[in-house]
Amino acid sequence: MKPRIGILSLGCPRNLVDSEVILSRLSGKGYKIVDIDKAQVAVVNTCAFIKEAKQESIDVILDLIDLKKQGKIKKLIVYGCLSQRYKDTLARELPEVDAFLGRVSPESKVIEYSLTPSHYAYLKVCEGCINQCSFCIIPKIKGKLVSLSVASILHKVEGFNRQGLSELNIIGQDITGFGLDRGLRPGLTGLLKKVVQKARRIGWIRLLYLNPERLSDELLKIIRDEEKICKYIDLPIQHISSRILRLMHRGATRDKILSIIDRVRKVIPDVGLRTSIIVGFPGEREKDFKELLRFIEDTKFERLGAFRYSREEGTKAYNLPQQVPESVKSQRFNQVMSSQQAISQEVNKKFIGKKIRVLIDAPSQGCYIGRSQFDAPEVDGVVYVHSKSKHHRGDFVNLRVTDTLEYDLVGEVENELS
Ligand code: SF4
Repeated sequence: MKPRIGILSLGCPRNLVDSEVILSRLSGKGYKIVDIDKAQVAVVNTCAFIKEAKQESIDVILDLIDLKKQGKIKKLIVYGCLSQRYKDTLARELPEVDAFLGRVSPESKVIEYSLTPSHYAYLKVCEGCINQCSFCIIPKIKGKLVSLSVASILHKVEGFNRQGLSELNIIGQDITGFGLDRGLRPGLTGLLKKVVQKARRIGWIRLLYLNPERLSDELLKIIRDEEKICKYIDLPIQHISSRILRLMHRGATRDKILSIIDRVRKVIPDVGLRTSIIVGFPGEREKDFKELLRFIEDTKFERLGAFRYSREEGTKAYNLPQQVPESVKSQRFNQVMSSQQAISQEVNKKFIGKKIRVLIDAPSQGCYIGRSQFDAPEVDGVVYVHSKSKHHRGDFVNLRVTDTLEYDLVGEVENELS
């Protein structure tokens, strides 16, 4: 009899999709998929994007090695980015691991296994990345951009549509590059028009990670005009100082980013704009950091994620001079986070008294936890939903916002949506 297999998926939603592909393939070969505590073979899909992610992956592998030593699992397989990057060293240092396997090929059969709650899902439309940011190891680990075929994406969308999925998250390292490797013009906008047509029973569609460089007016208009597409734009800018952006090989300059943000807010006035930034990139002087902080305070992104620069072997930035001390990175990180906290409260206050549509994710201690279209799963805030009626995961409700917390909203259901 084939052994029972359990998987632990670490890292970002893109990795989660890879884990689903792995599970689907294993189950197709007749393996029984179980929770990790019941597994005979443990598979861990690792992340190696930055230092913290690598540490987390190693810690999990060490815990699983312990379980193997105790005889609770028989075999341990390590997949994904960490394996891809450090296979030889890991095999030497961790002989208890039975196999180290690299990346998963993006073109896959229909995914039968879902590791997300049943009401939302991630659909990866491309793998690898067309950009070459100097701090980022992804193009090395994941390779060049490889887009899935439109037909295979639409096939998956049809499946989600049949299921009546509440939220479909379209993901990739940078989905604005979708189709460029296949010579598709327009790439993403052409795809989205087709996806929306097939998604009649899907509640809403969220686009995750749009590179400012390729954010066209046509794409903005589709986001604005298609009711199903969340008015949520995740636009990682990484910095605002033109000097640092150049060192990062980001392409965009300060002026270009300012004009893009201006365009986004003009075309979609009620947009929820998210960005991510890196503090402590090599050569970032106090002056550059102050410029970044002022920009964040002026722009008032509805959502913002900050990262301390992580020096990764194999990247162009690794050898840059003027590496910033960890203590300075942390100080700058804390300053950004405290500014953003105040901005988030200010942004949230504007919602008081307003009516918003909320997707219910789970019941929680006398209320429900949900999300608005401005909150991506796992990364953004939540909405605490009070209601006299009973709701299920995946239901949409109309809610009047009554209160705010730092990053979250609180409200009462007014009348249910059909
Ligand atoms: S856009 Fe830049 S940061 Fe993002 S995955 Fe590609 S190379 Fe890395």
